[in-house]
Amino acid sequence: MTDETAAPQADTGLPEGIERQRMDVDIACVGFGPAMGGFLHTLSQGLMDEDGTPAVESKAMPGMPPQVICYERADDIGFGVSGVVTKGRGLHASFPDLDLSQIPFATEVAHEEVLYLLDPIGASRKPLLLRLADKALRALGLAKDHAYALPYVPGFLRKEPGLLLSMGQFNQWAGAQIMGQGVAQIWPGTPVAEPILFDRVVAGVRLQDQGVDKQGAPEAGFMPGMDIRAALTVVGDGPVGAVGRALDEKLGLPVGNHAREWAVGMKMVVDLPEDCQLKEGTVLHTLGFPEPEIFGFLYVYPGNVASLGIFVPSWFDNPVRTGYRYLQHWMQHPALWKHLKGGRMRSWGAKSLQESGRKGEPHLAGDGYARIGEGSGTTNVLTGSGFDEAWTSGVLLGVSVLELLKADKPFTRENLEASYVRRRRDSWLDREAQAAEKARDGFQVGVVQGLMGMALTGFSGGKLFWPGASKKPHERIPSIEEFFRGRISPEEIDAIRRDCTAKGLPLSGALMDRAGWPAIQHDGQLLVSHQDALLMGGKVQAAPGYRDHVTFKSTQLCKTCDEKVCVEACSGQAISTNPEGGAPLFDREKCVHCGACIWNCSKPSPDGGEGANVRFSAGAGGLHSAEN
Ligand SMILES: Cc1cc2nc3c(=O)[nH]c(=O)nc-3n(C[C@H](O)[C@H](O)[C@H](O)COP(=O)(O)OP(=O)(O)OC[C@H]3O[C@@H](n4cnc5c(N)ncnc54)[C@H](O)[C@@H]3O)c2cc1C
Ligand code: SF4
Ligand code: SF4
Repeated sequence: MTDETAAPQADTGLPEGIERQRMDVDIACVGFGPAMGGFLHTLSQGLMDEDGTPAVESKAMPGMPPQVICYERADDIGFGVSGVVTKGRGLHASFPDLDLSQIPFATEVAHEEVLYLLDPIGASRKPLLLRLADKALRALGLAKDHAYALPYVPGFLRKEPGLLLSMGQFNQWAGAQIMGQGVAQIWPGTPVAEPILFDRVVAGVRLQDQGVDKQGAPEAGFMPGMDIRAALTVVGDGPVGAVGRALDEKLGLPVGNHAREWAVGMKMVVDLPEDCQLKEGTVLHTLGFPEPEIFGFLYVYPGNVASLGIFVPSWFDNPVRTGYRYLQHWMQHPALWKHLKGGRMRSWGAKSLQESGRKGEPHLAGDGYARIGEGSGTTNVLTGSGFDEAWTSGVLLGVSVLELLKADKPFTRENLEASYVRRRRDSWLDREAQAAEKARDGFQVGVVQGLMGMALTGFSGGKLFWPGASKKPHERIPSIEEFFRGRISPEEIDAIRRDCTAKGLPLSGALMDRAGWPAIQHDGQLLVSHQDALLMGGKVQAAPGYRDHVTFKSTQLCKTCDEKVCVEACSGQAISTNPEGGAPLFDREKCVHCGACIWNCSKPSPDGGEGANVRFSAGAGGLHSAEN
C-alpha cells in the first residue's frame, strides 16, 4: 500500500495547528471478545519459532516482531455480558488440556432441561394454540409449578457434553494467556471510532477523539484520536460495533443478505439461596413466558451462583418492550422462583445479539481487512450458540494470517479469500450456519409458526423451514394503539400517555400494569428497581472527555414520534423523554452499551437505508462487571 493511498482520510474539522498522530502497526484489531481471543491466541501460538524468535519480521517496524495491537472500548477486557453454555468444540481444539479450574465460574454441563412455562398470571399474550396447549397440559396433570419439562432436549438445542462459562471471566483468562505469550498487546478503554477506508481498501482504524464535550467539540486537553495504520485490520467488534457497521454501510452486504434480526439479552448473576436444590452444571432453557416470544436461560456455576436471563427478540413487536420488567416477571415464574427466592443479585447487564446468523454475513474479507465473530454472522440461530462459533472464526483467521505472513503474501482480498474465507466455507461453522439459515423465518409470521419452523429445521437438518419474509427493524414496530388493540382503548392509551408525560415516567410500566402484570414487590436483594440495578449490578461508568455515543439523527422526526421506543426500551433508562419536546435526552452515566437503541426506533433513518433515527457510535465506559 503506498503512503498516498494511506493518507489521512478525514482530518478536516480539527482546529488549526492540531494534528492527528499516526502510528504504524502490522495488524490492528478491533474489540476483544471470544472471536478476537481465538484469533490472537492462534496467532500468538504460531508466530514464534521454537527457539523463541519471531517466525517473521515486522514490516511496520523492521527488525522487530510483528506489531499486533487490539483495541477494546470497555474499560477492561472482562466486561463481556453473557453467561455461556457451549459445546466448546473450537475452544477444546485450541486448548486440548483445558483446565476449567483456572477459569472462575467455569464448569461442565451436568444436567440440561427445556421448560415450557405456562402463564400463572393471565397477562401473557399467548396465541390461541398455546393457550389451548396450556389448558391441555394442566388438564392432563403434566404441568408442575405451571411448567412442563420436555421429556428430552432436542439434539439441535442440546449442549451436553459441554461447558458453562462466564463471558467476563473467560475473556479475562483468555486475555491473560494471550498477553503472557507476548506477541499481541490488548488495550482496553480505547474505543475505535471508524475504519480508515480508501475506496474499498481498509488502511487501519481511527481511535475516538478525547477531550471533547458531549457534542464532540474540542475542549481543553483535546486529543484527536490517533490513526493506526495497519496492513491488516481485524474487525471483531461484535453485534453493534461501530467499525463493523461502518464497513457494512460503506461496502454494503453481499446481495440478498441483511442484518435485520436481533435480540437484547438481559441478565443477572445471582447468589442462589443456601437451600437451593439446583446442582452445579445445571442448564435450564425456557420458553413460553412472560411473553411467548421471550426465551430464557439459567445456568448454575460452581459456588451456588447462577447466570440467568431472557432474550427479547426483534419479532416481539411490542413498542414498549421493557426487558428489565420482563426479566423480573420471568424470575418470579413459580418454576424458577422456587429456586431463586431468597437469592441475591451479584451483577446485572444487557447486550444485543445479532440474530440474523449467516443471512447477516457481511463481506468476510477485503483488501486490508477481515471480519470475525458475531458481526461477521457467526451466531447460529438454530442452536442458539455464538461463543464457540465466534472463537472458531477467530481461529480460522489466525491460521490463515499465519499462512500469509509466512509466505510473505500481502493481505489483499484475493489472498484473504483464498485462505480465510475458504477455510470458513470448509468448516463445521459454515456447514451448521447454512443448515440454520432459515430456522427462525417462521417468527416473521407468528410465534407458533416460528417455534414450528425451528423444530422443522432442527429435526430435518436444515432441509425444512417455515417461510417468512423479514422487514426492516423500524418497519416491524407498530403503534402503541395497534399493539394493544382489543385490550386497551386508544382513548385510555392517550390518557395514560398524558399522565406519564406529566409525571416524567415511561409509558411501559403503566401499560404493563394496565395489561394485567402485577406490580413488582421489591425485596432489595434480587428484585430491585431498574435504577438500583444500575448501581448494584456492576455500576455504569462514563469515561469523561468523550462525545455522547448515542445521538438522534433528526430531532424533527422525534418530535412527531408517539411511540418513543428508544425511551421505553432503553436497557439502562439512559434515554428519557425531553420535557421540552424534541429529541429525547441521553444520559451517558446510565448507558450500559447494549446497543439495542440502534433498532429500538420506529422511524426510518433520514439518510435512507436499513437503519432508524438513532446513531450509536463508539464510546468508552459502560457497565463494570467482570462476572457477566
Ligand atoms: C445475555 C446473553 C447470553 C448469551 N448466551 C450464550 C450462550 O449461552 N451460549 C453461546 O454460545 N452464546 C451466548 N451468547 C452469545 C455470545 O455471547 C456471542 O455470540 C459472543 O460473545 C460473540 O463474540 P464476539 O467476539 O463476536 O463479540 P463480543 O463478545 O460482542 O465482543 C466484541 C467486543 O468488541 C468491543 N467493541 C465494540 N465496538 C468497539 C469499538 N468501536 N472499539 C473497540 N472495541 C469495540 C466490545 O466492547 C466487545 O468487548 C449470549 C449473548 C448474550 C448477550
Ligand atoms: S429516536 Fe426514534 S423512537 Fe426515539 S423519539 Fe426519535 S423517532 Fe421516536
Ligand atoms: S442508550 Fe445505552 S443502555 Fe439504552 S438502549 Fe442504547 S446502548 Fe442500551
